[in-house]
Amino acid sequence: MKKLDLHWQILIGMILGILFGFAMTQISWGREFVSDWIQPLGNIFVKLLKLIAIPLILASLIKGISDLKDISKFRDIGLRTIVIYICTTIVAISIGLILVNIMQPGDGISQETIDKLTSTYATDSGVTSKIAEASRQKEAGPLSFLEDMVPDNALKAMSENKLMLQVIFFTIFMGISMLLIGEKKAKPLKKFFDALNDVVLKMVDLIMLSAPVAVFALLASVVVSSSDPDLLLALLKYAAVVVLGLFLMVVFYTVVVSTFTKKNPFWFLKEISPAQLLAFSTSSSAATLPVTMERVEEHIGVDKEVSSFVLPVGATINMDGTSLYQGVAAVFIAQALDFDLTLGAQLTIVLTALLASIGSAAVPGAGMVMLVIVLESIGFPADKLAIGLALIFAVDRPLDMCRTIINVTGDATVAMVVAKSVGKLGKPRVKDWDDHLEEVR
Ligand code: ASP
Repeated sequence: MKKLDLHWQILIGMILGILFGFAMTQISWGREFVSDWIQPLGNIFVKLLKLIAIPLILASLIKGISDLKDISKFRDIGLRTIVIYICTTIVAISIGLILVNIMQPGDGISQETIDKLTSTYATDSGVTSKIAEASRQKEAGPLSFLEDMVPDNALKAMSENKLMLQVIFFTIFMGISMLLIGEKKAKPLKKFFDALNDVVLKMVDLIMLSAPVAVFALLASVVVSSSDPDLLLALLKYAAVVVLGLFLMVVFYTVVVSTFTKKNPFWFLKEISPAQLLAFSTSSSAATLPVTMERVEEHIGVDKEVSSFVLPVGATINMDGTSLYQGVAAVFIAQALDFDLTLGAQLTIVLTALLASIGSAAVPGAGMVMLVIVLESIGFPADKLAIGLALIFAVDRPLDMCRTIINVTGDATVAMVVAKSVGKLGKPRVKDWDDHLEEVR
């Protein structure tokens, strides 16, 4: 019997997980059962992916740079990447703002719903911790993002997944220095990192064998911990605007892929789909990164010289889905709480949501922290921030899952476009998990 494609297996795992989660909410001991016996399986999977993220960035970026042989090429790739990332993010925020202004989801929301949401969530630790985190981030000076990018201890940077940009900085620095000492001298180190890279990619293959079971566990846990269905229903129009915007982003990516790379966009979506499904299940582009890298390199054919830089950088600074959501959420909150938004304020949202997407961590819920900063930038009263966030909190997790798909798809699209523009988009070179298995046996 032909084995089902990975994306189908994952999809079936997700659907069964959702159904199982719903069934468990109907049983008195169901929620506890899921959190005690099912959720850990999902958590282990996410941990495994995070475990290999740093070695993968290190090995693949060093391999990518040292294969270049010429630093000016790297500058070229870097510049194109950043410019294209900024453009796609601006498109995303604009789509969000246009939709929310046309559809006005905040106007129809009754005072009764606002009161109910406020009393349920305004003092919830989920909301208050986001506001506190935002004020910590806001205190930073204008150049602190540059300062934060430079590690003072390479091992410490590698020991913390949040410090991914520091690892990227260290790795690029090391890769460039390897180019400068010359091929001959750098050879042993290069061989080491080449081998490490292959090993880590094989680890991705092995971890992915458990993906269908893991997504089952992750989705069942999300379902049993989700909010009151009545509250979800009240926010349906707002959620629909975000989802419609995210869907339009997918359309935008397909147009970009077919225009700039001349590849079939549906083929692109199919090949990248396991990464998208994982993004949805884990709500974290950082956890999905190893799989995104594997899919883009092996299944789409982007050369490592491009993907090893574009994808890790994208996971941390390019979040099209998050910035679209921030635009929609900020205007929705303003509409619901009768806070007037001028055109100037909307333009400020474009700018701050762009910066916020660069500053957001690639982990679940990070987009909401930066939303606080976006709201403050348009003069939203500080005493109403908790109420504002309470309004959207009930649907934040499902929307987080959806926007993370777009964050990951956006990175993959840009990787393809940059690769094509520098002649580094080749043929897919799929490696199966069991290559060499016979020799090992
Ligand atoms: N969860 C998102 C990500 O990891 C960030 C966010 O929008 O909260 O890409």
